[in-house]
Amino acid sequence: MLLCSCLACQQATGTGHAAVALVGADAISIEGTPKSFARPADSGAVFTRWFCPECGTPLHGHSSRAPTLVMLPVGLFGTDSAWFTPGQLIFARSHHQWDTIAADLPRHETYRQGGTRDV
Ligand SMILES: [Zn+2]
Repeated sequence: MLLCSCLACQQATGTGHAAVALVGADAISIEGTPKSFARPADSGAVFTRWFCPECGTPLHGHSSRAPTLVMLPVGLFGTDSAWFTPGQLIFARSHHQWDTIAADLPRHETYRQGGTRDV
């Protein structure tokens, strides 16, 4: 569970960061036919975001470098998101002062050292 302040997440969410839970791709199922948008990520991977074609709600995203993982936007869970406890902020280099987050949350300029480069 993490927060991401990369510019792509800022643009996708319309605010200062995305709140994301990483889960196995086999842990989710989708009814209907979502639409997607793919873009190159700073890591060199291709990042694809899926959304509802009817209302535009973001559903999940995944990186070409980690096809077994998906990123779930925590806001998707609405009032059932009390389980979310972010462990880090990634892409702190593009984090804005006006976007207030917990002062003690570990911050990484880009990806967490030794962690995944796939988000
Ligand atoms: Zn991001």
